[in-house]
Amino acid sequence: MPTVQRERLTVVHGDGAWLTTSTGDRLLDGTAGLWHANIGHGRQRLADAARAQMTSLETYHVFGRSANEPALRLADRLAEMVPVAGSKIFLTSGGSDSIEAACKLARLHWQLEGRPQKRIVVSRERAYHGLHAFGTSIGGLTYNRTGYGTSSLVPECARIPTHGLDGAIEVMEQIGCENIAAIITEPVLGTGGVHGPEQGYLEGLEEFARANDILLIIDEVITGFGRTGRMFASERWQLSPDIMTMAKGITSGYAPLGGIAVAPRVADRFFTGKDAPIFRHGLTYSGHATACAVAEANIDVIVDEALVTRAAKLEEVLVSEVGSLRTHPLVREVRAGCGLLAGVELNADADAAAVADLCSESGLMTRVIHGNTLQISPPFVVTEPEIELLAATMRSALDHYSTARVAPVIPEVSDFQKGALCS
Ligand code: PLP
Repeated sequence: MPTVQRERLTVVHGDGAWLTTSTGDRLLDGTAGLWHANIGHGRQRLADAARAQMTSLETYHVFGRSANEPALRLADRLAEMVPVAGSKIFLTSGGSDSIEAACKLARLHWQLEGRPQKRIVVSRERAYHGLHAFGTSIGGLTYNRTGYGTSSLVPECARIPTHGLDGAIEVMEQIGCENIAAIITEPVLGTGGVHGPEQGYLEGLEEFARANDILLIIDEVITGFGRTGRMFASERWQLSPDIMTMAKGITSGYAPLGGIAVAPRVADRFFTGKDAPIFRHGLTYSGHATACAVAEANIDVIVDEALVTRAAKLEEVLVSEVGSLRTHPLVREVRAGCGLLAGVELNADADAAAVADLCSESGLMTRVIHGNTLQISPPFVVTEPEIELLAATMRSALDHYSTARVAPVIPEVSDFQKGALCS
């Protein structure tokens, strides 16, 4: 294969599940950007919400007694939506910030409980929890930790195997549960290669956490707001997190925002009056008013257009279409079946980046994630024919990579590729 000159794909426009680049090419957004564009691109309703809020008040911080109305409204709404009964919502500025907040709060919780030795945050190998200091340290992708210190940025982080509950429990027993503040996991490992949970694994982790006084943090930064065909993946696997992290789909990427939902067990002590402890975490843009107004409009769209049900229904189509790539000689494994999420893992000797480039030359945006895997996570507005096109384009790119190793024939451009898809 000749060395491919990898030029940037500069995206200048988005509508529905489609992107337009600076060179005028149209690409189906097979990944919803970085798993964020759940409701699709180009929504006037969200732009209107941002404009209305900005022209009234761009933002006002939520430190101390200060607040802004969209942040308060959004927090109330999220508290009703999340699978964390009686929760309090702490708004952040994005996914990595949500992770920082969750991990710091877990440690503070045990400090305030009089058990300060419980500081270790346990995560899974191949996990991805963002790239701030805690996220870098608990992340299970070793290359993301390299170069920032001899062990990890934040001390007292440990990892358990991705699969195999018994092995995970063994590691935690060696560490000593009396030293563990929290277990954190994504319901479906995303950047780590799209790995759904083994039967009973998540439920088993929760049971172990409960039995051993360990907090359970479920990272729903990717899975939250419908990606797995439920509003939150915790519902799909019947989990009751002590802390649940959110970002991405909270605004579908129209503005940077995140949040954590905190169960009463952890949150209540911070609301006991003037002597209550203070959770000293927060950034200028935590609970940014315009971002919160956009989040409200985003949730309205998800509800009004029943996009979670749509994602659940399209799971079957994705499983069947993308699943058909399993038989391709270049494909090692296809992982699908958790809503609109799939990973196509190529054989170790195949260059996934080259295949992704061939896909983009043929009108499909995908990207390489951990384990020589191509990411598939389209916006929820994607249609069945578009999912078929996605699979056909990927197959064509794989064929061309494995045989002629030249740019593939571009599949016929159909009408839906030309026109706007969403209102
Ligand atoms: N947690 C998970 C599961 C993620 O996938 C990501 C980002 O991809 C993050 C946290 C970090 O989010 P952000 O990139 O918004 O900081």
